[in-house]
Amino acid sequence: MVKERSSMRQSTLFLKTQREFPKDEAAVNAKLLIRGNFIHKLMAGVYTMLPLGFRVREKVIAIIRDEMDMLGAEMLMPALHPRATWDATGRWEGMQKVMYQFKDHGGRDVGLGPTHEEVIAEVAKQIISSYQDLPKAIYQIQTKFRDEERPKSGLLRGREFTMKDLYSFHADTASLEQYYERVKDAYHAVFKRMGLMAHLTEASGGDFSKYSHEFMVEADAGEDKVLLCRLCGFARNAEIAEEKKGKCTKCGEGMLENINGIEVGNIFKLGTRFSEPVGLVFKDKDGETHPVIMASYGIGVERLIGTIAETHHDDKGLMWPEAVAPFMVHLLRVGAEDDGLTKFADKVYDDLVKKGIEVLYDDRPGVSAGEKFADADLIGIPWRVVVSERTHASEKVEVKRRGENDAKLVTPSALAALVNA
Ligand code: ATP
Ligand code: MG
Repeated sequence: MVKERSSMRQSTLFLKTQREFPKDEAAVNAKLLIRGNFIHKLMAGVYTMLPLGFRVREKVIAIIRDEMDMLGAEMLMPALHPRATWDATGRWEGMQKVMYQFKDHGGRDVGLGPTHEEVIAEVAKQIISSYQDLPKAIYQIQTKFRDEERPKSGLLRGREFTMKDLYSFHADTASLEQYYERVKDAYHAVFKRMGLMAHLTEASGGDFSKYSHEFMVEADAGEDKVLLCRLCGFARNAEIAEEKKGKCTKCGEGMLENINGIEVGNIFKLGTRFSEPVGLVFKDKDGETHPVIMASYGIGVERLIGTIAETHHDDKGLMWPEAVAPFMVHLLRVGAEDDGLTKFADKVYDDLVKKGIEVLYDDRPGVSAGEKFADADLIGIPWRVVVSERTHASEKVEVKRRGENDAKLVTPSALAALVNA
């Protein structure tokens, strides 16, 4: 039953917000997420997902999965790879700088996967041999390892992180183009559902196509420089752009603006770059053999969480969009410990839970109202509901959205409809 884990009493939850921002973190997302107890840092670029962070991550993954299931099936590939798989494409040496590589006790070279083109191409050889097997697509949501140099952007750049990676296989470019457009739409839907607007941005594309496409969310913390035309929406990564500023090269009317972007997704036409060396081929109608045309499509799960934190907060703390919030309601019981008040608050909690609303119930004894309010602002759950002696006296609760100044008094029975609306 999902319901049983969907609501929680704060007194029993593995959670303790921090009084101060961590001193060794420069990134806003890391500061907020560590202080709010969503994550714990083990080392630079490596984080534990504490219960709150874990719940956000689960929601982000659920949205991604929902959209990806319309594009292909899900599976799971291993993180530990033998050298031979990577030697086939020359990337064992080519990716030495980012790939964790070591020897096992038998002296064999193995590595932790920073990406999975080689592995998927090997797997696909078992599935694809004829034009009748094409097109095909498959995705996974899996842990990647990258030896990123000095990661200092919190969840935006991890050394261990979760990626959704989708791979598609085609007999011809027409089929590839058609599928690629579907993925673009699905990506926009994913980001929109979690409160993010991502600009489809042209970026360097490799051999097969002039451009790949990055999905860039505008944010101060963005490590990428993007040229954007706000009039027509055209965007290009400044790293590769010939134009630097001036009139938009697409619509000819808007002006190109320089913005900072966080790359939350990247889609890439690979052509036969991986299929050829691995021997992933198919026979066409006439029995002729061709390498399979491939594309890959990535989304960074933790990077998305970090991006939401960067773009959804105020000076008091986080402000989660409802679709990815760890809970929908933060119920605070404040004031003197009193049986009547406790019973009333417990009932408000039980009723919301029964109606399927996810509640974090701050039932901690001996914690001041001020501390509970500050924690609620820091954690950033969309709705705050307060039960106090004052509200109890009128058999009501006080409710407000995170970010609003004024609370309303409503009856407990009106609450569920209000927060579900
Ligand atoms: P960047 O240019 O930011 O280093 P990348 O181009 O190397 O990223 P891809 O290989 O395209 O990244 O990976 C697909 C997606 O995975 C990226 O769009 C991003 O959302 C995510 N991602 C990549 N590297 C990291 C990382 N170190 N930590 C968290 N997410 C990452
Ligand atoms: Mg990329």
